[in-house]
Amino acid sequence: MAKVYYDSDIQDEVLRNKKIAIIGYGSQGHAHAQNLRESGFDVVVGLRKGKSWEQAEQDGFAVKSVKEASEEADVIMVLLPDERQTQVYKEEIEPVLYPGKAIAFAHGFNVHFNQIVPPENVDVFLVAPKGPGHLVRRTYVEGAGVPALIGIYQDVTGEAKDVALAYSKGIGGSRAGVLETTFKEETETDLFGEQAVLCGGLTSLIKAGFETLTEAGYQPEVAYFECLHEMKLIVDLVYEGGLKGMRYSISDTAQWGDFVSGPRVVNEDTKKRMGELLKEIQSGQFAKGWVLENQANRPVFNAINASENQHPIEVVGEELRKLMPFVKKEKKEEEVAAYA
Ligand code: NDP
Ligand code: MG
Ligand code: MG
Repeated sequence: MAKVYYDSDIQDEVLRNKKIAIIGYGSQGHAHAQNLRESGFDVVVGLRKGKSWEQAEQDGFAVKSVKEASEEADVIMVLLPDERQTQVYKEEIEPVLYPGKAIAFAHGFNVHFNQIVPPENVDVFLVAPKGPGHLVRRTYVEGAGVPALIGIYQDVTGEAKDVALAYSKGIGGSRAGVLETTFKEETETDLFGEQAVLCGGLTSLIKAGFETLTEAGYQPEVAYFECLHEMKLIVDLVYEGGLKGMRYSISDTAQWGDFVSGPRVVNEDTKKRMGELLKEIQSGQFAKGWVLENQANRPVFNAINASENQHPIEVVGEELRKLMPFVKKEKKEEEVAAYA
């Protein structure tokens, strides 16, 4: 089994005498900054003037421009949206990325696909929490943590891995477990997971089920509960006890249907198409499309987003959720929307 690092495996002195710049104060940024500070590390936040700047100041941080924060820091963690990183890096980070410093990321996309090419005389590493930023914060406060991956792309000081481990401990990652990976593996598996399973696979499965039922004349409210609302209840059981644990709780009728019908919906053909997605990720074809889409100001993204937001499942869902006050709308939506 792969080596999993926990708190007691990690010496964090190496990061104690360093200043950490957290660039960006969004989903991941606010969580890293606050967790590191509470773990006793020296944090400065780098931003442009705006909403996040005000928030970070309210939360008691020293906030500076990206360039100033990067200049005075030893470790620069880039937590801007992936599609913004290249430009901000070129203009404000690269000019002050002096030899011996470290630049770090929470996702390998830009480095792996050569959108950012750091100089050869700095450390480059990855600390990627495997969960939404708001949970990185919430679980830390609760005394727990979100598992994280670390990866070393360049190690010129000889201490890149120790710094990455110390950082992952500082944000609470090693309370849950830290695994070592590479930029390539993290980037490709992260993109694949969100496309084929977690986000794309899930939303397509939910919509296909909902549409099949409503097109056959069943009530949209019933279809919503069946295909969307109950998803969480089932996934919670899977999360706690694996597939077996979930199957223990459902009826034998449901389990029989799971065995004989599930593989008819998601089958060898589905896997073949998952393989195609993976190839497009590995070849850089997906990355190229996303980079170009952003350069064109997102015409396709915006069009699909507008039509998805009007899907009948969203219309009925909005009404039904109003009647379920225990579904804490604001908090959940903020956390879920922030998960990339
Ligand atoms: P967010 O979109 O939540 O954060 C954006 C932050 O960047 C905001 O504080 C925003 O400030 C700031 N920002 C945007 N543009 C600029 C700019 N030009 N100059 C200065 N600041 C700017 O990002 P995420 O936290 O979602 O993602 C950060 C990284 O973490 C990405 O690499 C992502 O892949 C990775 N990641 C994210 C996960 C998640 O849970 N979301 C999970 C794992 C990894 P303003 O208010 O001024 O717009
Ligand atoms: Mg991910
Ligand atoms: Mg991702």
